[in-house]
Amino acid sequence: MRAGAKQVALQAKGFLLEQEGDKLFELASEISPHAPCLEIGSYCGKSAIFLGEGCRTAGKHPLFSLDHHGGSEEQQPGQPYFDPDLYDPELQAFTTLQEFMNNLRRCALLDWVVPIAAKSILAGRYWHTPLSLVFIDGGHSEQDVFQDFHTWAVHLIRGGYLCVHDVFPDPADGGQAPYHMFEHARALRAWEYVGMFHSLGVLRKR
Ligand code: MG
Repeated sequence: MRAGAKQVALQAKGFLLEQEGDKLFELASEISPHAPCLEIGSYCGKSAIFLGEGCRTAGKHPLFSLDHHGGSEEQQPGQPYFDPDLYDPELQAFTTLQEFMNNLRRCALLDWVVPIAAKSILAGRYWHTPLSLVFIDGGHSEQDVFQDFHTWAVHLIRGGYLCVHDVFPDPADGGQAPYHMFEHARALRAWEYVGMFHSLGVLRKR
């Protein structure tokens, strides 16, 4: 990974640990020659830089990075993950799109990361492209997480990676919806367990 891109990724706002980012970079570098990658939940681009840099290194297919860019429920004003820097007082709206684009520009990744500013379910309705890696880090409610799994995991090629962020087996560490979805998928014969990397759970499609 280019040192400059790594620096931008580490400085970007977001909730991804460096070791988790390094694993995403590694997986995207390995698998993206087979098909594009897609992430749900771009926020300010931290994970998109690691994944996009992996795609760039492999040199074949890009990352599609999907987010409505309005922030999740817990990022709205008055909520625990609200960041006033990302609030537009004129529009009275929380928006991460500008910061996301700026971070991609800072590391010259716009040829390797294709932004999709849309709700996951709406974009998913029209999606037909096979994917080599899907990273789920969008809405963290049970409904959102399972909907993202059912919408996007079907597009993975055989051998493709399903990556899920914020998988916390212990409720004391965080919300349980991603963990429930990960365990649900893990129990299905279609998926092979790869490992846990902090809160990043990885499965591989058989
Ligand atoms: Mg996350």
